[in-house]
Amino acid sequence: MAGGARDIIVAGGFRQGRGEPLSSVDPATGRVFAEVSTASVEDVDEAVTAGEAAMRDPAWRDLLPHRRAALLHRAADLIHAESESLARLQTLDNGKTITETRALVASAAGTFRYTASALETLDDTLTTARGPYLSMSVHEPVGPVAAITPWNSPIASEAQKAAPALAAGNAVLIKPAEWSPMAALSLGALLLRAGFPPGLVSVLPGPGGVVGEALVRHPGVRKVTFTGGTGTGRRIAAVAAGKLMPVSLELGGKSPTIVLPDADLDQAVRGIVFGIFSSQGQACVAGSRLIVHRSVHDEVVERITAAAEALVIGAPARESTHMGPLIAAEHRAEVESYVRLAAEEGGHISTGGTRPSGDALGEGFYYRPTVITGLGPGSRVCREEIFGPVLVTLPYDDEDELPALADATPYGLACGIWSRDYRRAWRLGRRIEAGTVWINTYKQLSAATPFGGVKESGLGREKGREGIRSYMTQKGVYWGLDETPSAWGL
Ligand code: NAD
Repeated sequence: MAGGARDIIVAGGFRQGRGEPLSSVDPATGRVFAEVSTASVEDVDEAVTAGEAAMRDPAWRDLLPHRRAALLHRAADLIHAESESLARLQTLDNGKTITETRALVASAAGTFRYTASALETLDDTLTTARGPYLSMSVHEPVGPVAAITPWNSPIASEAQKAAPALAAGNAVLIKPAEWSPMAALSLGALLLRAGFPPGLVSVLPGPGGVVGEALVRHPGVRKVTFTGGTGTGRRIAAVAAGKLMPVSLELGGKSPTIVLPDADLDQAVRGIVFGIFSSQGQACVAGSRLIVHRSVHDEVVERITAAAEALVIGAPARESTHMGPLIAAEHRAEVESYVRLAAEEGGHISTGGTRPSGDALGEGFYYRPTVITGLGPGSRVCREEIFGPVLVTLPYDDEDELPALADATPYGLACGIWSRDYRRAWRLGRRIEAGTVWINTYKQLSAATPFGGVKESGLGREKGREGIRSYMTQKGVYWGLDETPSAWGL
């Protein structure tokens, strides 16, 4: 650290940024625990220029894939070795429970390891010739990549972008969210320690409208990979259209969880409660709309209400805590305004709807798990992403209504189905517009399975082997095989 605020990472080194420092607040206490230096537009320019130079340097440009894979494995080892301190830092920075942040760190290490292995098995292609030549399609890095991330799952989000972008041979410029910059800075430091060349990785905290915007507009940035809100994603896509630059967008959600009348209700209730209330509901895939067959609706709501009331709300660093605080006071105020709106729209709050009481919780940004019934599918609370611990329930009568009811929001990120009949669940899952469908489970994610949304939940896919390809461009190479290479026969 220099000058009191934690340094940014530019051109392979740590230094103070030229932007206004920002304060990192512990959401469990409301207290500032660190100052973080931020990047300016000039810092962004310097970082992009260093990234371009690092990509051109033969030491990196000509490094064979298995050697790049070795660096990715080394990064995984370092993340793994530091896992407990990374998890604790993240719990302090964004209020997620320690069990969740440990899982995020494990996911980040796993992403680097999976990506390294996948990289070693990616092939270029010999294509079918239509003349006297040998034709190939080879893959090359797309160019410096800006990786812009939200606050809710740091380190895992950053790893999901940085690992495949680096595997593909790119420089990567990470712009973490204002409310949770710490994990990205730690990851950047570990990537430098792993041996990625200086300049190849920069970490540039700062306001989205300044640092994010400067990255997206910079002529040297050739791809943006973004996770965040739909409004921001749309804005980035508009700038990218002007530059004819590819973007991948992982955006918001209002994911339905469907309970068919034949479901194992014990299992379903446990899955639904975890699906909405883990991470305090601050998950893009949170199962925030519960669609239940009318014959079991009241019973399911009753059981969820009881399970929600039994959850332990408290200090996120404590092992026994189920729900920590929300990320920020402003964000909690927004969640509260949705709960007020639900009451105005005629909804009934079956549990929650208030802050928890107790001295130990008074200073943090805590909110009780909340269940709302009695609203129609067209109400704002049923259509808009709240990004907090708020579940709305909707009864249905006929299975044929389900696809339309499940799809009745602008989003299409994920969907859960609970049923003992696998044929029925399969048929339904295939009809719903969502990037991910979970059947008798929820919130399971594999580094090998492509992830993303449809409609206003996003564009493109991350993870899997194709996730690496999305950071590459293809080049056709033709090798002439006869003595008269031109059609003129000269
Ligand atoms: P956000 O859109 O406000 O911010 C995301 C990032 O974009 C931040 O780093 C921010 O600084 C930056 N940004 C803001 N304005 C920008 C601009 N004009 N140009 C470039 N960058 C800019 O989102 P958030 O509040 O941090 O995160 C919550 C949202 O993220 C929710 O909608 C959630 O559903 C979504 N999310 C989606 C996924 C997914 O995989 N689909 C995962 C996690 C979160």
